[in-house]
Amino acid sequence: MPRFEYAPAPESRSVVDIRSSYGLFIGGEFVESSGDTSFKTISPATEEVLADITEATADDVDRAVKAARQAYRGVWGRMSGADRGKYLFRIARLLQERAREFAVLETLDNGKPIKEARDVDIPLAAAHFFYHAGWADKLEYAGLAPAGGRPPRPIGVVGQVIPWNFPLLMLSWKIAPALACGNTVVLKPAETTPLTALLFAEVCQQADLPPGVVNIVTGAGDTGRALVEHPGVDKIAFTGSTEVGKAIARTIAGTRVRATLELGGKAANIVFDDAPVDQAVEGIVNGIFFNQGHVCCAGSRLLVQESVHDEVIRKLKRRLTTIRVGDPLDKNTDLGAINSAAQLDRIRELSGIAEAEGAERWSPPCDLPSRGFWFPPTVFTGVAQTHRIAQEEVFGPVLSVLTFRTPQEAVAKANNTPYGLSAGVWTDKGSRILWMADQLRAGVVWANTFNKFDPTSPFGGFKESGYGREGGRHGLEGYVTTGDDQ
Ligand code: NDP
Repeated sequence: MPRFEYAPAPESRSVVDIRSSYGLFIGGEFVESSGDTSFKTISPATEEVLADITEATADDVDRAVKAARQAYRGVWGRMSGADRGKYLFRIARLLQERAREFAVLETLDNGKPIKEARDVDIPLAAAHFFYHAGWADKLEYAGLAPAGGRPPRPIGVVGQVIPWNFPLLMLSWKIAPALACGNTVVLKPAETTPLTALLFAEVCQQADLPPGVVNIVTGAGDTGRALVEHPGVDKIAFTGSTEVGKAIARTIAGTRVRATLELGGKAANIVFDDAPVDQAVEGIVNGIFFNQGHVCCAGSRLLVQESVHDEVIRKLKRRLTTIRVGDPLDKNTDLGAINSAAQLDRIRELSGIAEAEGAERWSPPCDLPSRGFWFPPTVFTGVAQTHRIAQEEVFGPVLSVLTFRTPQEAVAKANNTPYGLSAGVWTDKGSRILWMADQLRAGVVWANTFNKFDPTSPFGGFKESGYGREGGRHGLEGYVTTGDDQ
C-alpha cells in the first residue's frame, strides 16, 4: 500500500512584527526598567532568539502597582459598568481582528501547534472578553451579594501571575473578569512566553483603555515574588505549580490580601467497558496530547476497565502512529515543541523514573527535529498507583495507564492523588456518569468528552489543585467584595 504523506502547509510568520527588544507596560505606555537586566525569549521549536525582554525589578513592580492604584481611584473603580463593558467589547473585537497575528506569535513563542493557537487559544481568549463585557453592567443581578446586603464592589488592585502553557488565554482568564468587576491589574507573564502579553499591551493602547488599568511587568520568579509581596496589592490571582501556589499562600497568610490559586492536576480519564471505544480513544488522545500535555487538567492517568484494556491500548497505539510531531507553524502538526529545556528535562526525568520503577514505555516511531525541545508521544502501561508517574504532574505528552474492575475501584484510584482539578468518564450509562461525577473529587468532570472549555463554565480545583473559580458567574466572586472591608 502506498503511504500518503501530508505536504507541508506552513503558516506565514510575516504577519507578526516582533521588535528586537521590549520594555515594561506601565501607566499605558512602554517604559524602561529602573534596572538593566534583560533576558531572551526563544522559539522552543528552533531555539531561535525572538526578542530581548526586560526583567522588571521590585522598583518597577512598585511603579506598576502605583499606576494601577491611580487608575483605580481616578477612573476605573468609579466608571459605570456599562462603560467598562464597552472597553471590554472593544478589546474582544481587537483580539478577533488581530487573531492571526496573535496565533502565529503564540506558536512562535510557546511551541504549540498553530492549529491549536488558531482554533483554541485565541478564539477562547476573545470569548472571555466578550463574556465578561456582558457581565460588567449586570453585577448587581449576579446573586453575588447576600439578600438585602450591599451591592458587589471592586476589590482594588489585583496582582496576576500566569504560566507559559496558554499565555494569552491565561491572561484573558485573569484580566477580563478583573476589569469587568472594576479592578485594575498588574500582570506578570511567564518568563518563557511574554510576547503575546506584550502584544496585548498594544491592544490596550489601541482600545484607548485608560492608562494604568492594565500593567504588564515581564520577568522571572523574582518579579512574580515582588508582585506577590507588594503591600499595595489587594488580591493575588495565580495559575501555576502547586509548589509556587503554596509559597504564595504562605506569603499572604495573615494579611488582608485575597487569593485565587489555580494549581496542578493529575486527572483520571476513566474508560468503562460499555464506552464507545473509538470515541474514547479520541478523547484519550485529546486529553493528554493536546498542547503537548502542558495542561493543568490533562487526562494524564488513563483508568481503563480491565476487560477492555487490551482493545483500548491496541487502538490507542494505532491512533498514535498517525500523530504528526514537528514544526508548530505547519497547519498539519498535531504535537509541537516542549516549551523549554527545563520542562523537557523534567519530562525526561519522570519518564526515566517510571521505567526504573517497572512501567512499560511505548512511543510511536517518529522523527524528532534535531534543534529545539522535543519529546515523542509516550504511553506507560503497567503503571502502579505508587509509581511517581502516577502521582506527580509530568506536564508533558506522557500517559500513564492503570486498570480497574468496578466503579468503586475506579473512584478510589481516581481520587488517590493530592490533586483534584478535573476528570473524564467514558460510559454509555447516564446514571453512571452522574454517580461518578458525584463521587469524584475534581472541580470539572467531563462525560464522554475531555478538555472542553467555555467562559460561561467555572473552572478550578479541589485539594492541592487550588481554590477559587475562574469563568462563569462563580469566577466573578473572586473579583468583588460585598462586605464592609473595602
Ligand atoms: P511556576 O509555578 O514556577 O510558574 C508559574 C508562574 O509563576 C510563572 O509566571 C513564574 O515565573 C511565576 N513564579 C515562579 N516563582 C514564583 C514565586 N516565588 N512567586 C511568584 N511567582 C512566581 O511553574 P513552572 O513554569 O516552573 O513549571 C514547573 C511545573 O509546574 C511544571 O512542570 C508543571 O508541572 C507545573 N505547572 C502547572 C501549571 C498549571 O497550570 N497547573 C502551569 C505551569 C506549570 P517564571 O515563568 O518566570 O518562572
